[in-house]
Amino acid sequence: MERLLTGLQPSGRLTIGNYCGGISQIVRYQEEYDTFLFVPDMHAITVPQDPEALHRNIREAVGMYIACGVNPELENMHIYIQSENLYHANLSWILECHSAFGELTRMHQFKMKSANKEGFSAGLVTYPVLMASDILLYDAKYVPTGIDQKQHVELARDLAIRFNNRYGKEYFTIPEPLIPQIGAKIRDLVNPENKMSKSSENPKASVFLMDTEKEIRQKIMSAKTDNDGFVAFDEVNKPGVSNLLTIYSVFSGLSIEETTKKFESGRYAELKRGTADLLVEKLMSFQDKFRSIMDSGIVDDVLDRGREYSNRIAALKYEAVRKAVGFGRG
Ligand code: ATP
Ligand code: MG
Repeated sequence: MERLLTGLQPSGRLTIGNYCGGISQIVRYQEEYDTFLFVPDMHAITVPQDPEALHRNIREAVGMYIACGVNPELENMHIYIQSENLYHANLSWILECHSAFGELTRMHQFKMKSANKEGFSAGLVTYPVLMASDILLYDAKYVPTGIDQKQHVELARDLAIRFNNRYGKEYFTIPEPLIPQIGAKIRDLVNPENKMSKSSENPKASVFLMDTEKEIRQKIMSAKTDNDGFVAFDEVNKPGVSNLLTIYSVFSGLSIEETTKKFESGRYAELKRGTADLLVEKLMSFQDKFRSIMDSGIVDDVLDRGREYSNRIAALKYEAVRKAVGFGRG
């Protein structure tokens, strides 16, 4: 089985964007690939976090993956916490020393996250290297991701190629991003030019997987659209309307064409109502499952197994790399 790896930062409550670009893809591919699904808590602290909330978000993220259809019983499913495996940080340091400062400060996500902020952490610059380490430690071939992380997977590719060339052996597998055809960039409901993010400052901008029925309806009904007055899929000129069509399409399983047909003769209000109804139905079902998973105590069993397995695999890779760069006594 080829390996697939992905992680969603426990930097807040998960959004429907995270579902579309991340979780739904893991669920789609879980029977086909040896799947490494980790909680990148070390990435989360690139911006300040409340420690209690971080602990809670980590456990709840795992509960939510399972509630959304990730099957932890599969033998090829490994779910673990990044910080419970010390090899991630060790390899990251080695890779940082093979990265150019300029290539990191040119990253799109870095520019966005540091814009107009003073005193941001150095981790905000270097975290794509940690992400490369997350991927390369396991020889992951595929990295399902939304469009926002594509550039970071490309950095992981560049670093793998650079390292292999420099030390003269295929130390690392060259990873590829796996971008969904629809849902790779769910947009912010208030500013549809931006992507929806769980750490967004405006709570109205995102639908969270744990939102109440009332919150879901309010946010979708007040989502920004345009003044054209007709439903059509056009991400450039009609980003708000296209976003609603995309959300409907991902959660219903209908294609964009089928979804557009369904709503094209109606007003925006009907598209919004249809999308809100569908989200309420799906998210309420995820939430019911989530509560029973959190009550069952299986999250810790799953994470214990994942920690043991991920450490075993990462140790082998780290040992080879350590020798290649000349660390220790040989
Ligand atoms: P943060 O604001 O903390 O960066 P985020 O919502 O961007 O949070 P990440 O943890 O950075 O979430 O990303 C988790 C996964 O979700 C990644 O695979 C990412 O590509 C995907 N993702 C994030 N936002 C979206 C979005 N709006 N549409 C589709 N996929 C997304
Ligand atoms: Mg992000």
